[in-house]
Amino acid sequence: MDVFSGYYKKSVDERIKLLKEFAGLTSDEVSVLEKTGSLSPDIADRMIENVVGSVHLPLGICTNFKINGKEYAVPMAVEEPSIIAAASNAAKLSLPEGFTADADEPIMMGQVQITNVKNPETALSVLRKHKKEILDYSKEFAKGMEKYGGGVKDFEARILETIRGKMIICEFYIDVRDAMGANTINTVLEKTAPFIKEIIGGTTRLRILTNLAVKRKAVAKAVWKKDKIGEEAIEGILDGYAFADADIYRCATHNKGIMNGIDAVALATGNDWRAVEAGAHAYAAMNGYSPLTKYSLNKNGDLEGLIELPLSVGTVGGAINTLPTAKIALKILKVKTARELSMVMACAGLANSFAALKALSTEGIQKGHMRLHARNIAVIAGAKKPEEIDFVSKKLAEESNYSVDFAKKILKEMKK
Ligand code: NAD
Repeated sequence: MDVFSGYYKKSVDERIKLLKEFAGLTSDEVSVLEKTGSLSPDIADRMIENVVGSVHLPLGICTNFKINGKEYAVPMAVEEPSIIAAASNAAKLSLPEGFTADADEPIMMGQVQITNVKNPETALSVLRKHKKEILDYSKEFAKGMEKYGGGVKDFEARILETIRGKMIICEFYIDVRDAMGANTINTVLEKTAPFIKEIIGGTTRLRILTNLAVKRKAVAKAVWKKDKIGEEAIEGILDGYAFADADIYRCATHNKGIMNGIDAVALATGNDWRAVEAGAHAYAAMNGYSPLTKYSLNKNGDLEGLIELPLSVGTVGGAINTLPTAKIALKILKVKTARELSMVMACAGLANSFAALKALSTEGIQKGHMRLHARNIAVIAGAKKPEEIDFVSKKLAEESNYSVDFAKKILKEMKK
């Protein structure tokens, strides 16, 4: 997008001004950004318990994302340098085609655990016979979702062998539309559990959604051409992927590289990143812990990257409507549905994975990482004015010496 060309070279004020035009931000929204978040103690106190303050994270914009032909500015909230630069660069290298992505309908699953059932096999067949009554009963508690085209869609039950004997596990499939859905699902489960108990007896225990949302996956793909990134980079990425595929120690970090981008978008948009993390790693472990992105050569000898993972995220509900920055982030993203948000997040994960593998398998990540970190070092050394920070960080990078003492020396000489 032309509006974001050279975005990284601009000042914070200039970036906000461009963003205001791009996303049609109001002056109130601009002022939230300028005040680095504006989460008032009042709002914070309504969100969690024993509030004493709030924590701020930098919010940045990833550029160059083109997904299914549409251009996106992707907000990321993250404390680690390089993630936004790396994703923006990976997205740029995927152009002009960019990413293709898709996502399932937003179907989530919630479980009711029933223990101490006298004859689990008989209870199971009784439950199956009463499936329609149970479904009809449960639907009453997801009426809020029906308004938007969602609601309870299916019910199943099974016997689970555990270390404490056989249990009945009832599973409800609920279409939560543009919400993450946890509150709605948990309400359905808690309200319907007594009805199930009336039918089969036993003791009702846990009633909670699963974060392993296998019916709510997002997938994305991109091709990085060999004439753009070079055969050496392709070979390096394929070797790096093979390493992760064969070794759990590498695989954990491979998947962390993916979640760098996904969590940062989840945080920026006020989504529950613990839920996203739990779902991603459980999915990766379903058939032995595996990489969530896969790489191969296509028939032209270009690199094809794929990602697939469950992403239960919302554009409404939870903290999204309470956090001022989350609403602004969603406005910048211009996503219309939670499905679309999950596709953008999958692409962000793929972009960060590609960038990490490319850097790790060639020059290493420290060069780029330290170049960005140099600005922090300049500040730690006492640089205050923008021109001081620029000068000191540039010198540190030129000399590849990132010690605070060296930064202090440069600053001292500059001030002379
Ligand atoms: P919610 O109940 O606040 O929001 C959903 C509501 O939004 C629906 O009831 C619906 O009436 C309304 N809505 C408006 N427009 C909608 C649309 N287009 N599509 C769908 N709904 C629409 O929140 P939620 O999403 O049910 O719950 C999410 C929260 O639950 C998160 O904050 C999460 O942290 C928390 N949580 C998570 C877990 C877990 O992941 N294990 C457990 C408990 C709670």
